[in-house]
Amino acid sequence: MKDAVMPPQEPSFRDSVDLMFNRAARFMDLPPGLEEKIRVCNATYTVRFGVRLRGAIHTFTGYRSVHSEHLEPVKGGIRYAMAVDQDEVEALAALMTYKCALVEVPFGGAKGGLRIDPRAWEEHELEQITRRFAYELAKRDLIHPAQNVPAPDMGTGEREMAWIADQYRRMNTTDINANACVTGKPLASGGIQGRVEATGRGIQFALREFFRNPEDVGRAGLSGGLEGKRIVVQGLGNVGYHAAKFLSEEDGALIVGLIERDGAVWCDTGIAVEMAKEWLGRNGTLKDCPGTRFVPEGAAVLEAECDILIPAALEGVIHKENAARIRAPLIIEAANGPITAGGDEILRERGVVIIPDMYANAGGVTVSYFEWVKNLSHIRFGRMQRRAEEAEHLLLVSELERLSDDRGLGWTLNPDFKQKYMRGADELALVRSGLDDTMRTAYQSMREVWHARPEVGDLRTAAYLVAIGRVAESYRAKGL
Ligand code: GLU
Repeated sequence: MKDAVMPPQEPSFRDSVDLMFNRAARFMDLPPGLEEKIRVCNATYTVRFGVRLRGAIHTFTGYRSVHSEHLEPVKGGIRYAMAVDQDEVEALAALMTYKCALVEVPFGGAKGGLRIDPRAWEEHELEQITRRFAYELAKRDLIHPAQNVPAPDMGTGEREMAWIADQYRRMNTTDINANACVTGKPLASGGIQGRVEATGRGIQFALREFFRNPEDVGRAGLSGGLEGKRIVVQGLGNVGYHAAKFLSEEDGALIVGLIERDGAVWCDTGIAVEMAKEWLGRNGTLKDCPGTRFVPEGAAVLEAECDILIPAALEGVIHKENAARIRAPLIIEAANGPITAGGDEILRERGVVIIPDMYANAGGVTVSYFEWVKNLSHIRFGRMQRRAEEAEHLLLVSELERLSDDRGLGWTLNPDFKQKYMRGADELALVRSGLDDTMRTAYQSMREVWHARPEVGDLRTAAYLVAIGRVAESYRAKGL
């Protein structure tokens, strides 16, 4: 996507987050000073380092911001983008604090960023840059399994996390928990199954939970379930792609619009997401993607008539200028901060239901937590969880399979039976059910406030109330 251009009269991203925080804090009875303590960002470290590349020294600027250390380690991704600056990492770090509190993942909030266009560099150059950035952060304990654990974000992925983990390991050769210094690693470097798809999967679970509550669906002026719902997704990156894929392939929703950097595609009967993703990968554009109509003005599709809008790209894409024209009655924020405080106010007044970022995209950090625990426990997840009874069934299943293979009997086991009894051994199934559980529980905690306190008004404010309440509780319990 193009870098977000905020209309001039809008507050910055950081201020936008604070305004939303303040809205919620008004409904709370926090002790004097505590509100301020929770809202402010504890520290932001800025580093400038040089790397010799292509015969010249290039200087890069990076950040790691720690918003709240009420729980440690602090947690949050590292973003690679040209728009990265202090205001942005601080806003994102604050959102991490509230996100972790809302889904009850025991971390404080942090975020990092490097001002770089990752597409402008070769892989080996990116490795050099990433290792140097990781070195600068790790030597100040801003990467550390017990204190500060980064993860992927926009512009980074498994590859970068593997480099970061390896760099930390080299600097801490005797640290048996070194693998837990970062999450989102590839499986072969201590990652966990289901982490790459986790944020998109979380969007799917969030929507399923929303549609399990007919009263809430009614508040958005919709009815029925997810099946046949017409969805527009902005951004076909990791989050948007997985959300669109799962919702269309598993829930019968129709992805009618897909918005990318250079325009959008539309298809009334539903876009084949997998094919569109391949097309984009091969051609660098969605233009001419078979079975779709190309709309050069992507912003127009953001305002198109549909049931659900999923902004899964940048912050600030829905703002004061276009909020009145958004026609979707339900928005789920897959990106962090896609709606400015000004845009939020307009949408709220119009009765649009917004499932807020801090809840909607918490799937990523939730599965990061599972990965961190897996790394610290030094055991394969399934093995640890399996109960003795399940182990017996597992033995039986594999014995039956062996017998069938040996004798050429061609027995096939009922997949439901296999799934049920082998669950304990299957890391992916454990991750998915843990994530589903988390998304259901967190939705209910947010929903309860939304329904019980009409003056609160919307899901975002309700989410802030729950999150701030939990952070405050933690400070109350252990002191500042
Ligand atoms: N970058 C992701 C987020 O914004 C994931 C963070 C994590 O896994 O720590 O939530």
